[in-house]
Amino acid sequence: MNYSRLREKLINELIKEGVLRTPKVINAFRMVPRELFVNEGFRELAYVDSPLPIGYGQTISAPSMVAIMTEELKPAKGDKILEVGAGSGYQAAILAELVKPEGHVWSIEVIPELAAYAERNLKRAGYSEYVTVVVGDGSAGLPENAPYDKIMVTAASPGIPEPLTKQLRCGGRLVIPVGRLHLQVLKVVTKDLKCQVSMRDSVPCVFVPLVGKYGFREPDLKLL
Ligand code: SAM
Repeated sequence: MNYSRLREKLINELIKEGVLRTPKVINAFRMVPRELFVNEGFRELAYVDSPLPIGYGQTISAPSMVAIMTEELKPAKGDKILEVGAGSGYQAAILAELVKPEGHVWSIEVIPELAAYAERNLKRAGYSEYVTVVVGDGSAGLPENAPYDKIMVTAASPGIPEPLTKQLRCGGRLVIPVGRLHLQVLKVVTKDLKCQVSMRDSVPCVFVPLVGKYGFREPDLKLL
């Protein structure tokens, strides 16, 4: 399988669709081999624009969603980033590519087996130095390394968890899918240099639910 040819083809499609826009994000997509972040049985589909199962009822997001969220977050060299929902580790690798070598990504995952999977994938792809995978409930953020320049939540949340806006640096940015279980809107939250928080809607989206203290509760999850 010629993965680099397939990767380039997908990147060109995402550029044409207008979801991949800035040269440095396009470059990050060129550098990170998505085939190393999907389960072996799905490798051939690594460059189809679709979410894929990674086990435990979870998914690696579609490349177009990763592109939209990354463009909205505007990661910069040297940034300290928190990602909530490590999953396969792919989004964390894209962020690492954009912030390295001085920056760092902390990616928190609530399912220990997936945290280990993300860590293995990141190691194989050469990103372990720039990403720390943590096991825990990221709906409450990760206060020990706060404040963060940017925060990205890659699971659907019923609201904007207060600890996340608290852990965001003034001048920072948070992207998070907010809404109901089966449909959300990607919210872009900014905290200006005077620490005033404002937000706007980006695109409609569908994510697996954020669980934990500030996520969806058991009775809601039973509806899935
Ligand atoms: N960013 C991932 C990637 O690149 O593969 C995809 C994330 S997947 C759509 C959502 C992930 O969020 C799942 O792995 C799920 O276990 C995790 N998750 C859900 N609630 C969480 C929480 N409270 N804290 C941390 N991770 C959570």
